Amino acid sequence: MLTDIIKEYFHIRTVSGVFDFDLRIKIHVEYPFEDKKFRMSDAGRCRLYRYWKRQGKEMKPPDTSNMLTMEAGNVLHSWIGNAIEGAGYLIESEGLLEDADRVGHFDVLFEYEGKTILADLKTVNGKKMYYLKKNGNSPDLHHVYQLISYWYAIEEEQIGDPILNEGEHIDHTCIFYVNRDNWSEIHEVEIERKPLLISQIQDDWEILLDAWKVNTEPKANPEDWECRFCPFKSICTERR
Ligand code: SF4
Repeated sequence: MLTDIIKEYFHIRTVSGVFDFDLRIKIHVEYPFEDKKFRMSDAGRCRLYRYWKRQGKEMKPPDTSNMLTMEAGNVLHSWIGNAIEGAGYLIESEGLLEDADRVGHFDVLFEYEGKTILADLKTVNGKKMYYLKKNGNSPDLHHVYQLISYWYAIEEEQIGDPILNEGEHIDHTCIFYVNRDNWSEIHEVEIERKPLLISQIQDDWEILLDAWKVNTEPKANPEDWECRFCPFKSICTERR
């Protein structure tokens, strides 16, 4: 689907429609880093990590060696939103979702072949892409939690400015993985919104929000890979 939209965009693109790099990239640098709210993009990550992050506990400074890769990922995200818009399918990109405790920005909401699609874009390296396909298209759990949290906030909780008109709903929730080693391979994974998955994600948020309300650290629940990359690992006694 996304590959077809991008082809279509290049087919109809005019010189005046060329990507406005400066304007779009500003969207990302304006994101507040210290907003004192939980970030929806951290959905599914270790709850102790999210709690400490919101508290502003001192963490290991970010690794600046991969900043260029991250920035290139931001540009690609914005460019894809731009292409979907240019091809005439975009409803909204980089949409803000915010309530008293959480803030998030979904990547793209668009309408294609009569269906409304909410998609999250992930730039990954070739190795990750290889294993994603090898493992039967099973995406990372926290990517699933993030996307479903956005969907739930839009459709069920109706957080922020109304995005859908009365009676409208999102037909598909998808993760688009883009291979950043060649910038052209795109892999689309549809995430089915099964009731069990939705309730697990809601439970996860509820446990975290309840812990915050009573000012008590939640129990750590990292996935196998998380502690190795956690900026709190040097001070965390729950580290695995
Ligand atoms: S080190 Fe592991 S257990 Fe501790 S906060 Fe980080 S992810 Fe959670």
